[in-house]
Amino acid sequence: MNASPATQNHSAVVACPFCDTLNRVALGRLDDRPRCAECHKPLLLDRPVHAKDVHLSKVIDGATVPVLVDFYADWCGPCKMMAPVLDDLARERAGELLVVKVNSDQNPVSPQHFGVRGIPTLIVFRDGQEVGRQIGFAPKAQLLALISGPAA
Ligand SMILES: [Zn+2]
Repeated sequence: MNASPATQNHSAVVACPFCDTLNRVALGRLDDRPRCAECHKPLLLDRPVHAKDVHLSKVIDGATVPVLVDFYADWCGPCKMMAPVLDDLARERAGELLVVKVNSDQNPVSPQHFGVRGIPTLIVFRDGQEVGRQIGFAPKAQLLALISGPAA
């Protein structure tokens, strides 16, 4: 409704955390509180969304905004340190950036597919292509630089 022109026409594909259905969400209309088409529960994009192996490539390819994917595990200390940074980023950049978390223990195929050798590994995708990668903890400023990429 009061979206900035930059986010107006953007959309992203996310899996519903309740029923696993993939939904395309209009990022310029997050104020309208998007809901899952299947189960009608809210789809919250002001926080990281989780993706499973079966959905990750569709989520990465489906977004018209940059996607930051965090490959993490529950037992990993630096991953726990990353979590609040990613929460902040998702909230501050809602509608401009999709923050996706992949539990690498429950989803072993994706980390292998993307050549992830250590966690946390954070990969930035634009238009489905990897444009940046960070291995290990990084403060927010460093992630923002990774997301903006080399000055174009
Ligand atoms: Zn649902």
